[in-house]
Amino acid sequence: MNEIIRNAQSSVAHASLDPQNWSEFRALAHRMLDDAIDGIANVRARPVWQPIPDATRAAFKADVPREASDLAEVYREFADHVAPYAIGNVHPGFMGWVHGGGTAVGMIADMLAAGLNANLGGRDHMPIEVERQIVDWMRRLFAFPDSASGIFVTGTSMANLMAVLVARNAALGTLARQYGIGNDGTLLTAYTSQAAHGCVSRAMDIAGLGTDALRKIGVDADHRIDVAALRAQITIDREVGFTPFLVVASAGTVDIGAIDDLKAIAELCREEGIWFHVDGAFGALAIFSPELAPLLGGIELADSIALDFHKWGQVPYDAGFLLVRDGELHRQAFAQPAAYLRREARGLAAGAVWPCDLGPDLSRGFRALKTWFTLKTFGTDRLGATITRSCALAKYLEARVMAEPRLELLAQVNLNIVCFRYRADDAVNREIVADIQESGIAAPSSTTLGGRFAIRAAIVNHRTEEADIDALVAAVLEFGGRRCGDGMIEVEAPPLAAQ
Ligand SMILES: *Cc1c(COP(=O)(O)O)cnc(C)c1O
Repeated sequence: MNEIIRNAQSSVAHASLDPQNWSEFRALAHRMLDDAIDGIANVRARPVWQPIPDATRAAFKADVPREASDLAEVYREFADHVAPYAIGNVHPGFMGWVHGGGTAVGMIADMLAAGLNANLGGRDHMPIEVERQIVDWMRRLFAFPDSASGIFVTGTSMANLMAVLVARNAALGTLARQYGIGNDGTLLTAYTSQAAHGCVSRAMDIAGLGTDALRKIGVDADHRIDVAALRAQITIDREVGFTPFLVVASAGTVDIGAIDDLKAIAELCREEGIWFHVDGAFGALAIFSPELAPLLGGIELADSIALDFHKWGQVPYDAGFLLVRDGELHRQAFAQPAAYLRREARGLAAGAVWPCDLGPDLSRGFRALKTWFTLKTFGTDRLGATITRSCALAKYLEARVMAEPRLELLAQVNLNIVCFRYRADDAVNREIVADIQESGIAAPSSTTLGGRFAIRAAIVNHRTEEADIDALVAAVLEFGGRRCGDGMIEVEAPPLAAQ
């Protein structure tokens, strides 16, 4: 054999990263899977969250690992240092921010997706059809036309940004993608409420329109956008030469779960010729619940909807989604010709619109699979029932707060979020939140309502029960009492005390 070929051969030998011993790997992998399942099955036995010990944090300031390590060793580091110090949203006592609980089914589906290692940027393969199946389900649920498009993204922050870009393109025309914005002197303005999520403002910044071009309209007592004020601001802006192009309505505000009057906003946007986008990050999936779906009336008139399957949909992180009524406008905002991405009539490069035509990402993972498994395995009726139930639990917490003289309710409960406080100053309430988080009993978060610090409990996790609400209330009273020197207070045993 030619020496050049021999040398080349020896330098490529044994290059694969596959296990040398598959049966050893299989045994260890099965153990990891068992541990992961146990982690979910026995989640109640653990604190919701615990502070990271210094040694654990220090273990992750190590040098670049040039040498190989045993998988078992690496796994041990994960089991010792990572798994116990996760954020805690799998736990039923987690009520901070708006985090989904995930499911064992979603976990397995994500593992299967990792095995396929599919790239969903485009091309002709079944994983893309799975994503298209979900797009079609979303079209049906929100009564969008067949020509509507949809795409999985990281989360609603990204979906809202993409909606701003699609709306911007619809307003300025596709040439603006070449010339840049502002070159023809058009000054675009967008509208949302003061209660909208901060990512809307960030989207305006990233899109190059500037946060000043986002008008934050006032809200009523229920935190819904003041539609008359919205209309008036649009009129004023037109009069002074701005071009209103987008209204972002909220279907479930982060603070208290308020849903804007989507019908009225849809009507206004239609009259004004303005893009109507709905930030339905968690609230949009209330469409699964026959009791709650009527609250979303008007969402079917939106030009685009952003939502997260990883919140109320209980799909593991991350699984955000954008649905756009006019699929062609969506495509025009992102599609780009490139020789190496040429579409063919047959073969692997066939297939209609590719996901990479509908967003900034080219390579994309298989988020659709864990969503497909979740929707199929549980069915939207059952997922809807867990959503209804989390609102009932929020009502239960509201009732407990109102019945307790030491607690004060700060906003009426519309959906699944309860804002309240211990009857003491802001500083004490801030300490109470941190005390409870560090105790591992529960994990509320906080916000500010009407200038006052609020303890905020968002009930999202399907595992949360009345007893978890009771444990939160007991913990607030316990730590509040300690902080205020009220002496001994009878508290119901939190779940951890039972261990
Ligand atoms: C969570 C949330 C967002 C941000 O979504 P991510 O998935 O975290 O990017 C935006 N808007 C609302 C109303 C939210 O609840």
